[in-house]
Amino acid sequence: MFAFETDAEYQKVLDWAEAFVRTEVEPLDHVFSNPYDRSNEAAMRAVRPLMRQVREAGLWACHLPPELGGGGYGQVKLALLNEILGRSNWAPTVFGCQAPDSGNAEILAHYGNDEQKARYLQPLLDGEIVSCYSMTEPQAGADPRLFTFRAERDGDGWVLNGDKWFASNARFAAFTIVMAVTNPEVSIHRGATMFLVPTGTPGVEIIRNVAVYGENPDDASHAYVRYHNARVPDTAVLGGEGRAFEVAQVRLGGGRIHHAMRTLGYARKAFDLLCERAVSRQVRDGRLADLSTTKERIAQSWIEIEQFRLLVLRTAWLIDKHNDYKKVRGDIAAVKVAMPTMLRNVVQRSLHLHGSLGVTPELPLAELLVTSEWLALVDGPTEVHEATLTKQILSGYEPSPDLFPRDHLPRLREAALAKYSAGD
Ligand SMILES: Cc1cc2nc3c(=O)[nH]c(=O)nc-3n(C[C@H](O)[C@H](O)[C@H](O)COP(=O)(O)OP(=O)(O)OC[C@H]3O[C@@H](n4cnc5c(N)ncnc54)[C@H](O)[C@@H]3O)c2cc1C
Repeated sequence: MFAFETDAEYQKVLDWAEAFVRTEVEPLDHVFSNPYDRSNEAAMRAVRPLMRQVREAGLWACHLPPELGGGGYGQVKLALLNEILGRSNWAPTVFGCQAPDSGNAEILAHYGNDEQKARYLQPLLDGEIVSCYSMTEPQAGADPRLFTFRAERDGDGWVLNGDKWFASNARFAAFTIVMAVTNPEVSIHRGATMFLVPTGTPGVEIIRNVAVYGENPDDASHAYVRYHNARVPDTAVLGGEGRAFEVAQVRLGGGRIHHAMRTLGYARKAFDLLCERAVSRQVRDGRLADLSTTKERIAQSWIEIEQFRLLVLRTAWLIDKHNDYKKVRGDIAAVKVAMPTMLRNVVQRSLHLHGSLGVTPELPLAELLVTSEWLALVDGPTEVHEATLTKQILSGYEPSPDLFPRDHLPRLREAALAKYSAGD
C-alpha cells in the first residue's frame, strides 16, 4: 500500500532535473543576483535557453493544470521536483514556477477576464513578465483585522488609498494583486476585495525597497508602497467584491507545499556541507567526525530532514487524494510550522561546525539561517499556523464527562472489572 519511491519513468525525469539543476542552473546563483529582474539582459540571455530545455523536458510550469500548459503531475510528484529546485535561487524561475507568480497565475486563471488573461496571464505563464502580491501593511501583517488600506467606489471604478509593506518584487512586476478593505462595517473576511493594479497606475509610488538581511541592499526587492487616489476600473476586481480571502486561498495550498520541498533543498545543502566538514577537518584527536558532539549533530540533522520530508510528502499525498484544500488546511499548517525549525536546526549545526568560516558570506550558511527566520514569517507567522492546526485537532475532542479524564485509571479499572467479572 505504501511505496516510498516514485515510478521508474518519473524517476528518470527527476534524475534529469537533478543533473540539469546542478550543472546548468546552480552556477547562475553565483553570477546573477535577482531572478525576478527581467530587464537584466545578460541574465536573461543565459536563462532563456535553459527555460527552453525545461519546456522540451515537459517540466515547464508543471504546477499548472494541463489546460494552462502545465503537466498536471499532482502534488506528490511536484513535491519531489521542488526538492531538487530548492538547491538554486534561479531554479524556480528556470522551471517557470517561482512565487508569487505561480499563485498569481492561478488567481488570474480562476478570476481574470479575457482581456486580463491575454495581457497578463499568458506573458506570466511564458515567463516574460513577473508579478507582485500585496497584502501586508506597515502596521499589520499577521492579523488582517488591522488592515486599513481602502478602496472606495467612484463612478465606474475604484479609488485606492493607503500603504502596503513588503510587496516583494513590486519594482520588477508588470502588475500587483492587492487586497483592500471595501466594507469596513463588516468583518475583514467579508469586507476585503482583491484588485489587479497594473504597474504605472498614477498614484502608486514605491517609497523604498527593503532588503532581507544578507541581500545586497542595491538589489532590495521588498517594496514599501503608497497608493494615493490610485484609480482602477471596475474590471480590476478579482473574484467579486468582499471575496478577497477566497481569492487568496487559491494561491496558498499548493504554494506552501512547494516552498516546503524547496526548503528541503536548502537543508540538504547545509547538511552536505556539515558532513563534508566532519570528515575533512582535523582536531587534536582525529577528525571532527569522530567527536560524539559531531555524531549527534549529524544524526539529529538527518532525522529531522527525513521526518520533515515524510510530513510534506504525506500532506502532498492528502492534497492529491482529497483535491480540496479545506480538508488539508491543518496538515498544510503543520508543514508550514515545521519548515523553519527544521531548516534552522540543520543550518545552525552546520554553521557552528564550520567555525569562523560559517559566519562569513563565503558559505551560504549565515544567509540560510536568515532564510529560516523569514520562512517563519512569510505567508503568516508560525503562531497563526499553529492556531489553525490546533483548531483542526481539537475539533475532534469532547470535554471529559466529569472532573477526571475519560481515561482516568480508576474509572477504566471499574469498567473493566464490571466487564470481566460479570460471569463470576
Ligand atoms: C521575505 C519576505 C517576503 C514577503 N513577501 C510578501 C509579499 O510579497 N506580499 C505580502 O503581502 N507580504 C509579504 N511578506 C510579509 C509577511 O507576510 C509578513 O511578514 C507576515 O504576515 C507577518 O506580518 P508582520 O511582518 O507585519 O509581523 P507582525 O504581524 O507584526 O507579527 C510579528 C510577530 O508577532 C507575533 N504575532 C502576530 N500576530 C500573532 C497572533 N495572531 N498570534 C500569535 N502571535 C502573533 C508573531 O510572533 C509574529 O512573528 C513577506 C515577508 C518576508 C519576510
